Amino acid sequence: MKPAPFAYVKAASLDQVFDLLTRHGDEARVLAGGQSLIPTLNLRLSAPAVLIDINGLDALGGIALEDGTLRIGALTRQRTIEQSTEIARHCPLLKLAMPYIAHPAIRNRGTIGGSIALADPAAELPACAVALGAQIEVRGRDGPRTVDATEFFRGLYETDLRPGEVVSGVLVRKPEPGQRSALAEFARRHGDYAMIGLAARARVERATLSDVRLVFFGVGAKPVLARAAGALLEGRAIDRAALRAALAEDLDPSADLQASAATKLHLAGVLTTRIVDQLVGAPQ
Ligand SMILES: Cc1cc2nc3c(=O)[nH]c(=O)nc-3n(C[C@H](O)[C@H](O)[C@H](O)COP(=O)(O)OP(=O)(O)OC[C@H]3O[C@@H](n4cnc5c(N)ncnc54)[C@H](O)[C@@H]3O)c2cc1C
Repeated sequence: MKPAPFAYVKAASLDQVFDLLTRHGDEARVLAGGQSLIPTLNLRLSAPAVLIDINGLDALGGIALEDGTLRIGALTRQRTIEQSTEIARHCPLLKLAMPYIAHPAIRNRGTIGGSIALADPAAELPACAVALGAQIEVRGRDGPRTVDATEFFRGLYETDLRPGEVVSGVLVRKPEPGQRSALAEFARRHGDYAMIGLAARARVERATLSDVRLVFFGVGAKPVLARAAGALLEGRAIDRAALRAALAEDLDPSADLQASAATKLHLAGVLTTRIVDQLVGAPQ
């Protein structure tokens, strides 16, 4: 199938993007890596009148460390994140996540900003952003603002982005001493969206965890911060019965084409055990 006809504008500046978004409203779509947008056009699930190509806007690119905060520009390709030594050093969770996202050809084009703006509930990057306590940097006519990732994801493919705004970057604090991260997921085939996944960060001292942030994806309309299960892991070994109860309190998965709700809850327990093993394993 071919997409419905649309106009294409290669934006020369952010101001032009804001003008076009204001003028065309819901009839316009921003084009980043195109790895999610173009398939929806081809399948005619979406038929915008105008595509605004933001590739090439320097303000949306680059990886920079300033005052202990890493700013990853929205247009940074997933493959660049995978191969960046700065990301490996200062934000290892993102590096861990990359091989789970589709395949290299898709990661060559797909961007961090596209994934964050799309807010697919089964995607790795939104969950990582919440686990890392990242700030999402957003720009519009009224200037930049930052939104805590925990607040940014609002519901199914729904974010805090206001009309006329774009995601311009993701801000992550450098890890503190002892902080480690881990990611695990179940998918039917490598590269598929996760049936269920877990991104985590914690402080680890002599195999004991504190400040645990467990964020599940593929189990709800948005990334789910599992507070009860995280608290249960603080300072003690896993009590499997208590963990099952805590996960049942944190998660309310719906059945989907891949698994029943009960299977997802069971897999959440398996993933948590694996994540703890990863966290207390070799230092990053
Ligand atoms: C076969 C296949 C398998 C995949 N598997 C996975 C997977 O396992 N895990 C996963 O997470 N992803 C997966 N993806 C999606 C892929 O990671 C996309 O790259 C990502 O979801 C969107 O990024 P993009 O840069 O391609 O965005 P685009 O497709 O260009 O845009 C996606 C949406 O976000 C909007 N948008 C893009 N950038 C911005 C911005 N800066 N500000 C505001 N709005 C913006 C667009 O208007 C559009 O609505 C898969 C894709 C394919 C085709």
